[in-house]
Amino acid sequence: MDLYEYQARDLFAAHGVPVLPGAVASNPEEARAAAEEIGGQVVVKAQVKTGGRGKAGGVKLAQDPAEAQELAEAILGLDIKGHVTRRVLVTEASDIAQEYYFSFLLDRANRTFLAMASAEGGMEIEQLAHERPEALAKVAVDPIAGVDKATATAILTQGGFPAEIREQAAEVVVKLWETFVAEDATLVEVNPLVRDPQDRIVALDGKVTLDGNAAFRHPEHEQLVDTQAEDPLEAKAKAKDLNYVKLDGEVGIIGNGAGLVMSTLDVVAYAGQRHGGVKPANFLDIGGGASAEVMAAGLDVILGDPAVKSVFVNVFGGITACDAVATGIVEALKILGDEATKPLVVRLDGNNVEEGRAILDRANHPLVTQVDTMDNAADKAAQLAAAGA
Ligand code: GDP
Ligand code: MN
Repeated sequence: MDLYEYQARDLFAAHGVPVLPGAVASNPEEARAAAEEIGGQVVVKAQVKTGGRGKAGGVKLAQDPAEAQELAEAILGLDIKGHVTRRVLVTEASDIAQEYYFSFLLDRANRTFLAMASAEGGMEIEQLAHERPEALAKVAVDPIAGVDKATATAILTQGGFPAEIREQAAEVVVKLWETFVAEDATLVEVNPLVRDPQDRIVALDGKVTLDGNAAFRHPEHEQLVDTQAEDPLEAKAKAKDLNYVKLDGEVGIIGNGAGLVMSTLDVVAYAGQRHGGVKPANFLDIGGGASAEVMAAGLDVILGDPAVKSVFVNVFGGITACDAVATGIVEALKILGDEATKPLVVRLDGNNVEEGRAILDRANHPLVTQVDTMDNAADKAAQLAAAGA
């Protein structure tokens, strides 16, 4: 889960990373009140889960509370790269002597953690990595040894941080590492990490991604979920413990096993090219135990998506055999009753396939078509989606 800047800032503050005084506001009056509380010049910053807010007009300096209110009025509702601004962060304005870049992240390709540091912060990291790769230090971090002050100092030296502030910056880096570990983050990024004219080091912007696999260890992270911005179908699927991702096509997909579902998406996208360009509407892996309840829950979510015109159920029977899955489909359709309104193409294969197909034949449900191969089933599902669109 990606966090908003204000949430990242709260986590930083909780772990002793220096941040500026500030408060989040969801209307112009609150922004004014926050500016009054802070006093002096403030910065009003759009809270959206995307970078480059500065360039998009989402970060503005206000001289006084009245101007903070005006700026908040302009920034709230602003669309930044497809993200609508619903909150602003109002912070004390900082005097900036230098802007640096620092991050810790999970480096999946190299199966380790990585620190990235550069004395040339402020601009977007992708641009820096592209234009001046030599200015960006990338240092692997041993997860057991972690990051102490000596390690932090070595990383900052490689990143070209000036000697006179390396000590202070290293202390901040150690706290960022503590944040990364304690919160089970996969990314903690500060851009810019600033040096003020008094040589103090402050995290001026923060980006944090929390590892969803560790959510069970962090009941307190639940409150960071932005239910307003969540896709309602994804929220519904999550509540039912389903592995679901909303996509933008018309063919609903249910399969068992992430690999099979991924290849089903490919096959459907390919078949869709022959049928007016229809595409998969979602990813849904119902896992090994495809019980009637799980099948019903999955169908319920998919049929609740107004974009869905047909559904492709692609199951390879393994430990859960095809007859159990077929019974699950029949029972699920009974549970859903009149709510099931869209054609279903079912392809069963694997363990006990003959019995599974016989169960569906006997049920003879008007919405269900059986097709024996994955390619032909994908083609049929795409054709039905195109006809229903
Ligand atoms: P981003 O564009 O989404 O990364 O938003 P940032 O929070 O990083 O802000 C973009 C830029 O605005 C920073 O790199 C700074 O140059 C500038 N900025 C942000 N806050 C302040 C501030 O308090 N004082 C000054 N002088 N500049 C700021
Ligand atoms: Mn930034």
